[in-house]
Amino acid sequence: MIPKPVGLLGASAAIIFGGFVTLNLASTLTLGALRAASEAERKKVAVPCGVCKEKGFYICKLCKGDATIKWSPLFDPVYVNPCVCPTCEGNRVQRCLNCLGKGFH
Ligand SMILES: [Zn+2]
Ligand SMILES: [Zn+2]
Repeated sequence: MIPKPVGLLGASAAIIFGGFVTLNLASTLTLGALRAASEAERKKVAVPCGVCKEKGFYICKLCKGDATIKWSPLFDPVYVNPCVCPTCEGNRVQRCLNCLGKGFH
């Protein structure tokens, strides 16, 4: 008895497809579990940021909260021009670089 080529092909296709679906389902479940685990882990290890006291920002280090800096062009050191602080753009506070503004890390 010689099996029909089409039947054989169909059977292998079904096996491959079945395996693919199983793999896909397994990886989806694994990814979901991993994501849930990492989320739980992240919440567990979240430490309040001590640099900004959990605010996510602190007084600008460049202008020290003045919102402006005294800038003088090198060619004329007598002329001092107060200008808006480039770090905080006049907001007097800058985003905490330790926690990236999240308040914890
Ligand atoms: Zn500033
Ligand atoms: Zn911080």
